[in-house]
Amino acid sequence: MTKSLKPATLCVRAGYVPRNGEPVEPPIVQSTTFKYDSSDDMARLFDLEAVGYFYTRLQNPTNDAVAAKIAALEGGVGAVLTSSGQAANFFAMLNICEAGSHIVSSSEIYGGTFNLFGVTLKKMGISCTFVHPDASDEELRAAFRPNTRALFGETITNPGCAVLDIERFARIAHEQGVPLIVDNTFATPINCRPFEWGADIVTHSTTKYMDGMASQVGGCVVDSGNFPWDQYADKYPGLTTPDASYHGLTYTKAFGKMGYTTKLVTHLMRDLGSIPSPQNAYLLNLGLQTLHLRMRQHCLNAQRIAEFLASCDKVAWVHYSGLPTDAYYERAKKYLPNGSCGVIAFGLKGDRQTAVTWMDSLRLINIATHVADARTCVLHPASHTHRQLSDEQLRDAGVPADLIRLSVGIEDVDDLLDDIRQALEKV
Ligand code: PLP
Repeated sequence: MTKSLKPATLCVRAGYVPRNGEPVEPPIVQSTTFKYDSSDDMARLFDLEAVGYFYTRLQNPTNDAVAAKIAALEGGVGAVLTSSGQAANFFAMLNICEAGSHIVSSSEIYGGTFNLFGVTLKKMGISCTFVHPDASDEELRAAFRPNTRALFGETITNPGCAVLDIERFARIAHEQGVPLIVDNTFATPINCRPFEWGADIVTHSTTKYMDGMASQVGGCVVDSGNFPWDQYADKYPGLTTPDASYHGLTYTKAFGKMGYTTKLVTHLMRDLGSIPSPQNAYLLNLGLQTLHLRMRQHCLNAQRIAEFLASCDKVAWVHYSGLPTDAYYERAKKYLPNGSCGVIAFGLKGDRQTAVTWMDSLRLINIATHVADARTCVLHPASHTHRQLSDEQLRDAGVPADLIRLSVGIEDVDDLLDDIRQALEKV
């Protein structure tokens, strides 16, 4: 029923349909476990022969309702909520990789994901080659190896605000016989649905716009159901050959398009955990109900502020794909025709201290290690998240020392502009 509904309707209603006399809000099923009448009833669940809940680390009705809403918004066949965005990207990879595997990733991604792929996965025997997202097709192809299992990128990069050429990335991933995984946190399915451009799997930090109120940390992995795992069976034995820990069941055969999602739940969640609490899933759902309204306002406000910054003498540069002068303006018209997000990257003329003085002079806008929230906030990576790096190391990491990440919220834009202006007068 949800497939034909528009995104705004899906935000409000998808994932949960109350029956006669039931609550309109999905109830918080804050229970670790579920009771059955007979031993046989429960045994059938463990054998995956019957559908039902038995333990919240695997599945929970509140979490499932919210995951189903996100799957509907992205146009996927299945989704799994995770305890954080980090867990979502980790599980999306680990579901199809093992020691000895290799992945290719855009180098312009969130620092936490960069570290996960470059350091932590490496310690587990999974290596990663980083390639600039605007590298040529040849350079991108050259990064692939026989043991490559996935290509990864972010729709809009954090913190640089570059826009990914999803269609090109998908084409090259498919040529190489691997899926494209896209972190769609900043665009959200309101502004871009990567499956429509060929991506196979989408991940989210739901901590960001989907929640929008800074009230819970969470993540989500969504599967399009489109990648032909069986065609590349030798690369993905975890999905395409019998799983001894599930009585010899083969995920793609037993669950078809739901094979990837089912494996993520029954294998990774079973063995590693990382589920959100049902309470957090409930809070996330409150945020999702207004996602379409908030994204529109984030984009309107950010556009006004980006235009102001671009016209200001004290500003050295601005990256926001809604500006006609931006390197990603044309690409954003294709992938983000209704707006990108509220995040702007810019630099002030001066040095690191100029950015600090400007931020310390703000009265309304928060200094916060957060982004994509209803409250406008600001972060200077060189002083905060990346403060151990020299200017040269910052440049190598694609984060110039003067980069300020301004996450524009949904307050009245004139109040935000007043605050930005009065702080600029102090530098
Ligand atoms: N992906 C992106 C694009 C992010 O910006 C972040 C966090 O900022 C993450 C993933 C990680 O998400 P979380 O903080 O929910 O673990």
